[in-house]
Amino acid sequence: MSKKQKPLVADRKEKGFIGVGLAPWAGFGVTLRTFFEKPVTEQYPFRGKFPPPFPRYHGRHQLNRYPDGLEKCVGCELCAWACPADAIFVEAGANTPDAQYSAGERYGRVYQINYLRCVFCGMCIEACPTRALTMTTNYELAAPNREQMIYTKDQLLAPMEQGMLAAPHPMRQDATTADYYSGQVQGPSPEQVEWVRTNRPEDPSLSGAERGAVR
Ligand code: SF4
Ligand code: SF4
Repeated sequence: MSKKQKPLVADRKEKGFIGVGLAPWAGFGVTLRTFFEKPVTEQYPFRGKFPPPFPRYHGRHQLNRYPDGLEKCVGCELCAWACPADAIFVEAGANTPDAQYSAGERYGRVYQINYLRCVFCGMCIEACPTRALTMTTNYELAAPNREQMIYTKDQLLAPMEQGMLAAPHPMRQDATTADYYSGQVQGPSPEQVEWVRTNRPEDPSLSGAERGAVR
């Protein structure tokens, strides 16, 4: 054995009388040292608030919208192909002049994520070409049965923000799909607001979008 090598446990000398007598106190020392410290255990969900995880934590997914309210998902299914757990199901639908949901030819007509399969690896969000799919830090995912663990599009779609105009409606007349993808669209145009007012006069997003319309 070289001088630098530590002796193997089997080769160490037996403890002496004092060492044997003090050994239990050395062990209890850890207990005694932490006995009067403030507990770090979170009593969630029975007490306290939802403890926030780290900002880049991979939690529940979200399907995002553009600032004018159109959906970012174009139904390409790349997320479903990238998923190693086969947890995503996408079925695309064609946008039409009367029902345009996304800034592209197609949109995600059916979108489901099975959270009994998902391992929260994030491969799907890396694969998404339009940043439609991202992950939130929400980890409150529990349900009393299997069906409720399959999240559908209405559960995954991001909530409408102030000034957004609910889809379907046409794209901004002054913007191309490339403008949408590159973040040039800042809100709904007066023409989009007018289109929704004509086709869905009772739409609740109209009043907010009228105020936030961007020329
Ligand atoms: S996080 Fe991973 S396992 Fe979950 S849906 Fe995305 S690719 Fe699939
Ligand atoms: S979420 Fe992204 S990758 Fe998945 S279908 Fe929609 S656009 Fe394609």
